[in-house]
Amino acid sequence: MTMWIDLTALPEIGHVETYRDHPFTVVEIHQHQTDSGLPLTLIEWQSECMTCGTPYGELTTLRSKPISRRCKECRKQPLPPTPAQQENRKRYAMRGRARR
Ligand SMILES: [Zn+2]
Repeated sequence: MTMWIDLTALPEIGHVETYRDHPFTVVEIHQHQTDSGLPLTLIEWQSECMTCGTPYGELTTLRSKPISRRCKECRKQPLPPTPAQQENRKRYAMRGRARR
């Protein structure tokens, strides 16, 4: 699993991390305690959905796998196909027609 965030120190509020050309801004640091009494730091990130532009927030720990670049609503929808995928589909459809 690739780690998106692997921080040894707490980021400052306003710190920006970029994941796949998509900026995420630190808006809040939350200090929690786990049930076993261990300190747990959660970082609150703010970003704008790459599909619809809606701002959304995410919480991660200091080490985290990548956050989705899309808001919760858009995440339910499959990503639109890339031009290469569309081209493939067209070719596949043509082949199907030729066989008939
Ligand atoms: Zn969205």
